Formats: sequence, structure tokens, C-alpha cells
Amino acid sequence: MLRTALISDIHANLEALQVVLADIETKNVERVINLGDILGYGPNPVECVDLVAERCEWSLMGNHDFGALYEPTNFNAAAEASAFWTRAQFEAEQDNKLAAARWEFLGRLRVRVTYGDFLCVHGSPRRPINEYVFPEDAINSPVKMQQIFDRVDKYCLVGHTHVPGVFTDEPDYYPPDDLDSVYKFQNGERAIINPGSVGQPRDMDPRASYAILDETEKKVEFYRLEYDFAAVAEKIHAIPELSDWLGDRLMEGR
Ligand code: ZN
Repeated sequence: MLRTALISDIHANLEALQVVLADIETKNVERVINLGDILGYGPNPVECVDLVAERCEWSLMGNHDFGALYEPTNFNAAAEASAFWTRAQFEAEQDNKLAAARWEFLGRLRVRVTYGDFLCVHGSPRRPINEYVFPEDAINSPVKMQQIFDRVDKYCLVGHTHVPGVFTDEPDYYPPDDLDSVYKFQNGERAIINPGSVGQPRDMDPRASYAILDETEKKVEFYRLEYDFAAVAEKIHAIPELSDWLGDRLMEGR
């Protein structure tokens, strides 16, 4: 039996991450992997990096991790300000050894990981850090979906859109609600799976999202969890460098 918890897009939301990791502990899971964007938008980047470093077998590089570590590219004003504020939180660490360990962890985030039948990237197989695979692409952008699926042998795990669900190569998209929260792999198909966002869901459901990939049972289970959104929004509102809107959106899941 191999059960892997898939988390993504934590976005420095410690309360959501703690709730998700506690739930994972009850689910008979052998390991946790993170599909990127530990950082950006949220109020607790340092704490989230420490927890991910401790609990995840490996982590991918997301565009916001890249933005805080190197430079924010194609970010709106709120995202760029949050990237610079985030970097300053790591620079403020007084313990040199601890600071160095965190920079090293961030510098070692991986752009692409393959294991067994699975290709793992934050964005898309074509542009692993920055390209979005949106649910509406399955309807509006068949050529884009074809080009993306051309790079998928069997299964691909992604984050980045903050919208959970499964893409098949028809192309089609299935939100977890249409699947009764369980997707069963079909023989011979190709699929792209997104576990949704731990710390900033954007499917109009503010609850933290994650998934469990069960390779023995050949299925993916999707989970949603309540956490104290209001407390996190309040923390964001108290930090002048973080736009109030970043707190407000958490309450609405958008
Ligand atoms: Zn993200």
C-alpha cells in the first residue's frame, strides 16, 4: 500500500496548514508531498517553511516561492508587495545557522519530479512554474490541453490554480463534487490531478483543500477542512505590506 498526501498552495497560511497536516495524520498516509507555493500572500511564511521542511518528503518550486526567493515576475501589485515582505521575514532571522538552513531549503525546491507513473509540477508540464491549467481550458482551449497532455505519459500532479479536480484527455474537467470526492483511475487514460489549495482556495469554498493519492487502490480522495479563516484574515489585515484584499478573499474562497 502506498498512500501519499498531496498538498499545494499553502501560501504562508499556518492555521490551514496545521489543520491539514493534523487530518493527514489520521488518514493512514505514508508520506506528504507538496506541489509548490509555500510562500506568498499569507502572514506566516517562515513557520510554514519550517513545518513543510519537517513534514514533507519533498516540495516543488511554485511561482510565489520563486518570486520571494529570486524575483517576482508577472505579479500584480499586491502579490509583488507580498513577495518582498516575505523575503524580508527570512532576512530578519537573527540566528545565522537557521537562516542559512531556510535559504538552502528554498534553494533546493524542485521544478519537476517524476516517480513511477507520475509527473509532478507546480503549474503545467509545459511551463512548470508559471502556466495555469484552468478548469475552463477543458472547454475553451482544446489545443492548449492537447499540447499539455502531449507531455503527460500517464498522470500529472499539479497545483497553481487553487482549484481542485481532475482533467482527462478528452479533454474534460471534473470537480471533486462531481466525483463524490473520489476519482478512480481508468485503464489506458491520462489524467492531470490538482489537489486544490491548502491556504487560499479559489473555487468559492474557503475550506482548506488537499488530496490523498492511493496507488494500490488506484484512486485519489479529495478532502476539505474548516479552519479559522477569520484569524488568518485578521493577521493579514494587521500587516501593512499585505493588501487587505488578501485577507478578505480567504473568507470567500476566491
Ligand atoms: Zn499559488
